Amino acid sequence: MSDQTQVIQDLDLASANCVTLAGAQTIEQDQRLLTIFETAKILVTERELEAMLQKLLSCLIETLEAADAGSLWLYDPSDGRLVAKGAQGYDLAALKHLRLAPGEAMSGRVFQTEHPQLYSTPEATAAAMANITPANGESFKAATTGLSQPLSAVCVPLITGQTKVGVLTLLNLRQPASFTHEDMAFLQRVADLITISIENARLREELEAAQTLSEANRLKAELISTLAHEMRTPLTSIKGYSTALLMEESAFSSETQQEFLQIIDEECDVLQDLIRDLLESSIIDAGLLKLEPQPVRLPRVAQSVTNDMARHTQKHRFLLDFPEDLPILDADPDRIAQVLRNLLDNAIKYSPQEGLVVVRGEVRENEVVVSVADQGVGIAPEHLNRLFEKFFRVKTGLGRHVVGSGLGLPIARTIVESHGGRIWAESHSGQGSTFYFTLPLTGLSQKREVSQNE
Ligand code: ADP
Repeated sequence: MSDQTQVIQDLDLASANCVTLAGAQTIEQDQRLLTIFETAKILVTERELEAMLQKLLSCLIETLEAADAGSLWLYDPSDGRLVAKGAQGYDLAALKHLRLAPGEAMSGRVFQTEHPQLYSTPEATAAAMANITPANGESFKAATTGLSQPLSAVCVPLITGQTKVGVLTLLNLRQPASFTHEDMAFLQRVADLITISIENARLREELEAAQTLSEANRLKAELISTLAHEMRTPLTSIKGYSTALLMEESAFSSETQQEFLQIIDEECDVLQDLIRDLLESSIIDAGLLKLEPQPVRLPRVAQSVTNDMARHTQKHRFLLDFPEDLPILDADPDRIAQVLRNLLDNAIKYSPQEGLVVVRGEVRENEVVVSVADQGVGIAPEHLNRLFEKFFRVKTGLGRHVVGSGLGLPIARTIVESHGGRIWAESHSGQGSTFYFTLPLTGLSQKREVSQNE
C-alpha cells in the first residue's frame, strides 16, 4: 500500500469517526431540546404545584437517556427541612414521610452546599445516599424497597437569587459514570427554569390566598354592618318606648303603658333571636353541633312548635296535617323543633297579608317528608338555590324592613343534613312558598350502630 493510499484511508476513518461523533452530538442535542420543550410545556400548562413537579420529574426521566429514577425535594421553611414533592422509582407515599435536614443524604448535602454534584461510581452514590439520620431510616427503607442499587447519580440545587428552593436528584440503575458534566450543566439550566416556575406558583398561591382572605374580610365587614343594622332597629324601638315610659312629665294611660311594654317585650325577643342565631351559627362553624337522638313523635313536636308560634301572631292561621300512623322517628327532638321553628317563623315573617300556614308530614319510601307551606310573598326562582347560604337575604319588596340574620335556613340545613336528611324550597314570586325537609326512617342511633360496626 502506497503512503498516499494510507493517508486517504486514515482520512476516511477520521471523517467516519467525525460523522459518528457529530451524529451522537446531534442525538444528544435533539434529546435536550426535546427535554426543554416538554419541560416548558408542563411549566405553562400545569397550574397545581405538586402535580407540575411530579410531571416534570417524569418528563426528565423519560427524555434523558441516562436517567432511570429520581426525586424532587422542596425546602419547607416552617421546619427547616426538605420534603419530597415528586419521585419516580421510589415509593412516593413512603418518601413523603422523610424530612431531610440540610446536609443529610445526597439531596440534603447538595442543598446545603448549593453546588451540583456528579456521583460516577456505585460506591460514591451509595455513600452519598447512606448518610441518613436514624429518624428517617425506616421511611427511607420503605421508600427504596422497589429500587435497585443506583450505579451513578446527578444532583442539582434549585436556587433563585438568594432563595434556596430545593433539590433535584436523578439516578442511573444500569451503569456507572452514565451522567456527564454536560448532562449536569444542562440539568442545572432546566433546574433554574423549574425554580422560577416554583417561585411563580408560590407567588400565585399567596396571591390567591390573599384574595380569599380579602373576600372573607369583605364578607365579615358586610356581616357586621348587616347585624349592626338589624340590631339597631329593635334597639331604637326599645330605647324610644322605654324613654317615653320613664319621662316624669308624661302621663300615659295604663293601656298605653301596657302597649309600650308589649312592644319592648317583642323587640327584645327579636334581639334574642338574632343573638341566638349568631351563637348557633358559630357553634355549627366550630363543628360543635351535638345531636342527642331519641324516639320522636313528629306530630307532637310540630304541634308544640306551632302552638308556640301561634301565640306570637294573631293574624296567621295554622293547619297541621300528619297521618295517624306516622312512624316514631329516631332524631334529636330539640333540633327538629328548631328547624320547624325557623321555617314557621319565616312563613309568618314573609306572609304580610296573613293567611294560612300548613305543616304537613307524610311517609315516602324510607323517609318522612315534612313541609311548611305559606301564602306569602314567595321567592323568585333565581334565589331558591341561594336561600341556604349563610347571610343570604332576599330584598322582599314588602315596603318595610323585615328583621332577620340570614342564618335561620343555613342552621336548619345543617341540622337536617346531620340527621341524614335533605332540605329545599319550592316557590313562585307572589304565590307563597313551601319548604320541605326529609328525615330518614333509619334514624341516627341505627346509623351510628352501623358505622361503628363497619
Ligand atoms: P332571615 O329570615 O333571618 O333573613 P333565613 O335564613 O331564615 O334568614 O332566610 C333567608 C332568606 O330567605 C330570607 O331573608 C327571605 O328572603 C327568604 N325566605 C325564607 N323563608 C321565606 C318564606 N317563607 N317566604 C319568602 N321568603 C323566604
